[in-house]
Amino acid sequence: MRPFTLIAGPCAVESREQTLATAYAVQAGGAAMLRGGAYKPRTSPHTFQGLGREALTMLAEAREATGLPVVTELTDVRELDAVLEVADVIQINARNMQNASLLIEAGRSMRPVLLKRGAAATLDDLLLATEYVLNEGNDDVTLCERGIRTFERSTRYTLDVSAVPVLKERTHLPVIVDPSHAAGRRELVRPLSLAAVAAGADGLIVEVHPDPDHALCDGRQSLATAGFAAYADDVHTLARAMRRTELAVAA
Ligand code: PEP
Ligand code: MN
Repeated sequence: MRPFTLIAGPCAVESREQTLATAYAVQAGGAAMLRGGAYKPRTSPHTFQGLGREALTMLAEAREATGLPVVTELTDVRELDAVLEVADVIQINARNMQNASLLIEAGRSMRPVLLKRGAAATLDDLLLATEYVLNEGNDDVTLCERGIRTFERSTRYTLDVSAVPVLKERTHLPVIVDPSHAAGRRELVRPLSLAAVAAGADGLIVEVHPDPDHALCDGRQSLATAGFAAYADDVHTLARAMRRTELAVAA
């Protein structure tokens, strides 16, 4: 069975200090990979849009410092070469799940791809989007459930826990869960993470920040670095109980 993989880091790369502090903290806590967005296409064009290539340089430094592989989002084919300089895994986010040209270029790059389910995408839509990557001969694709739009307003999205066993029934690809974007608030990240692990997820991708209340993006749903090790311990304990004896560990 493939190793259980905990990916953690800030929503957005904000500064060198914030990125390094988060990388060291998640590594010490037991994360296997570092996430961090350089390009942040937000709902509003008036909010922080990410530091772009400057952020990629900071992620490269954090990888060098910690040895953690980097997962970062590709939003635009014009940025592909810059992203490939740094990304160990190319993340394609919910709003781009059906961006065919992006999927094709990510496929052609032969770099591992993390494809997030669109907020209004069915599992069929997600699997068809995945085929754009696979068709280019790149079969290193991980699927990510991150919450879907429902009538429920008490969470940012509704985590579709059943997506995990259903996707695992329908594909051999690894399936991970993003509890942060589904929940929208950090108090819910631990319970949703444990639900995902209990449902058989192959990993989690979770937002972590040294000072979440002052984060430039998604602070409300970010775990604080200070509490990350305890959270990671709980997740890994349950993963072991689920007979996920192989845990991907920080380098
Ligand atoms: C993210 O992971 O930073 C992100 C924006 O997620 P999503 O595409 O799931 O909203
Ligand atoms: Mn985010």
